[in-house]
Amino acid sequence: MKQAYEFIDHQYDVIIVGAGGAGLRAALGMSAAGLKTACITKVFPTRSHTVAAQGGISAALGNMGDNDDWRYHFYDTIKGSDWLGDQDAIEYMCKNAASAVIELEHLGVPFSRNEDGRIYQRQFGGHTIRQGESMAKRACAAADRTGHAILHTLYQQCLKHQSIFFIEYFVLDLIMTDDGRCVGVVAWSLEDGKLHRFQAHMVVLATGGYGRTFFSCTAAHTCTGDGNGMVLRAGLPLQDMEFIQFHPTGIYTAGCLISEGARGEGGYLTNSEGERFMERYAPHAKDLASRDVVSRAITIELLAGRGVGPLKDHVHLHLEHLDPKVVQERLPGIVDTARIFAGVDATKQPVPVLPTVHYNMGGIPTNYHAEVIKDSAETVVPGLMAIGEAACVSVHGANRLGTNSLLDLIVFGRAAALRASEVIKPGSPHVPLTKDQGQESLSRFDSLRYAKGSLKTAQIRLSMQHVMQQHCTVFRNEKHLTEGVDKLKAVQNTMADIQVNDQSLIWNTDLLEALELQNLLPQAIVSMSSALYRTESRGGHARDDYPERDDVNWLKHTLCWLGDFKVSSSGLTHRYLHKSAKDGLVFL
Ligand SMILES: Cc1cc2nc3c(=O)[nH]c(=O)nc-3n(C[C@H](O)[C@H](O)[C@H](O)COP(=O)(O)OP(=O)(O)OC[C@H]3O[C@@H](n4cnc5c(N)ncnc54)[C@H](O)[C@@H]3O)c2cc1C
Repeated sequence: MKQAYEFIDHQYDVIIVGAGGAGLRAALGMSAAGLKTACITKVFPTRSHTVAAQGGISAALGNMGDNDDWRYHFYDTIKGSDWLGDQDAIEYMCKNAASAVIELEHLGVPFSRNEDGRIYQRQFGGHTIRQGESMAKRACAAADRTGHAILHTLYQQCLKHQSIFFIEYFVLDLIMTDDGRCVGVVAWSLEDGKLHRFQAHMVVLATGGYGRTFFSCTAAHTCTGDGNGMVLRAGLPLQDMEFIQFHPTGIYTAGCLISEGARGEGGYLTNSEGERFMERYAPHAKDLASRDVVSRAITIELLAGRGVGPLKDHVHLHLEHLDPKVVQERLPGIVDTARIFAGVDATKQPVPVLPTVHYNMGGIPTNYHAEVIKDSAETVVPGLMAIGEAACVSVHGANRLGTNSLLDLIVFGRAAALRASEVIKPGSPHVPLTKDQGQESLSRFDSLRYAKGSLKTAQIRLSMQHVMQQHCTVFRNEKHLTEGVDKLKAVQNTMADIQVNDQSLIWNTDLLEALELQNLLPQAIVSMSSALYRTESRGGHARDDYPERDDVNWLKHTLCWLGDFKVSSSGLTHRYLHKSAKDGLVFL
């Protein structure tokens, strides 16, 4: 080490890493339960990616007169997950959805309203009444700024309940004991450059997704899956990392999202022949089929040469037939995004779109109390929880339905708080940390800080992103994935030649991005390897060489560890409640 570092030590009952919707909901519940709670975040809480969520949060409130029922939501979520989602967790989420949304309303979320004053709900892909008989109106929306409304409300509530925030602190690693218990985290304060150890009876990872492993994605640049990186370094596995959701309507070239709410309000897609091609692929749900189905349909259209534009490499999303007043009222953000990033007036012209990486179904394996598990026997890792997009609980299975992520954040953020308040007595004493704990993380930090190679972080990151974009895309096969794994290993090797120019400790974004890349790369490798391992097609994972879903061999999760490049996978049996997931559902 070039510089002797000194830790500033803190002790809390619970530490939450991340202040997106998941982290804030957990922080609120834990503080309200009397636990001494600290929330650490690398960006200001209301800048977390949750702020960008547009379309809505699902709950079978039935406010639009469609006689919705949580059991329809339950069925749709299982079907949408291509039968891989864990049905105990899905039951828990859908049963608690209505109370979670009403709770948000009471906390102050300014939802859009119906004439009668109740929360406005719109259609979203894959959400139906009576197993597909008709589309459900289940997405509770605050115009097209639902995440923004939820995040701001939760932050205010956390402040009211005296949660303590450490803002613009970058968490480097978990502190694990030799017997596998998590006892805290190491963090770097970006503002003053000091290093900290936060000790806690429970660490909750709420660090969001890892969309930035790809070149084109709808997620913020901060979505680097840092918690997943920490988990892999701690020798723990990640689950179902092959399941990456491509959203059908990212804006052509820019990648920014046009919410599915746009199709929920009546928007539709066409190819170069002006054909509403979704009618061929999904005669019932059409443009509102689940995202994996629509993304594959667009990709097939492009491969068949029916894309629009000089390169025939995208399709059109139409909103111009809708009443401009409705578009302005329900989708104001979409109109702005289309104007700024595609240069079109969505009320008059079609918007150019193509499938873009949007969501990570995989992540840190947990049970539905948010406790992290580490093997197929579902052994709990003491002291560690994960929630939100970082976690794989798994309610989304192989494919997430739109609006189910915001719900996942709120329901399992709350579940984490309930569990923590059961197992932790407020103010119970800590065994003090030894001098050595956290040192390994500092050595990693130090070696990057003084890295004198020839390659800039941005160059290595771009190489990784191109490999992911080309080899881990909507359609996959063995040859492409094998090449992809090899190419990623080659990119990983170039990390030895990384260059960090800025050695300071205060707001050193050069070092910060290098640390984020150190988290991204292993996740890319694990995702590509898990995709190679799963020899079937299911949900977001479509293999040309194994086009069928294989329930005999693959109705199970992938668990993937990373050790010195060795990726191993072992099946964790998927949990279902009813006699057969395949034969549809026997209602409770
Ligand atoms: C454009 C867009 C639109 C979407 N629309 C919808 C929608 O309408 N409905 C829906 O259900 N879902 C939607 N989603 C998905 C959903 O918004 C996300 O899955 C969800 O918001 C993730 O929330 P989170 O709390 O898990 O993480 P995030 O909101 O991503 O927050 C992560 C937090 O972790 C912190 N963090 C990360 N790493 C570190 C570190 N090393 N140290 C300290 N802090 C760290 C960050 O500072 C941040 O506070 C959308 C996603 C996108 C990208």
